Amino acid sequence: MAVPKRRTSKMKKRLRRSGQRWRAIKLNTCSECGSSVPSHIVCPSCGTYKGRQVVVIKDL
Ligand SMILES: [Zn+2]
Repeated sequence: MAVPKRRTSKMKKRLRRSGQRWRAIKLNTCSECGSSVPSHIVCPSCGTYKGRQVVVIKDL
């Protein structure tokens, strides 16, 4: 079985993993009701996405 000749250095490992860093979700404001909503997610308060009604929200 093939085995690596050299141990991967700390810098090489860190540089490789720099691209898989966790990033906080981007918050957008809803165009219909104006509330802050995570991007690429249907608005939980009015149920619209890209100016289109997607989910019907039932008021309790
Ligand atoms: Zn909304």
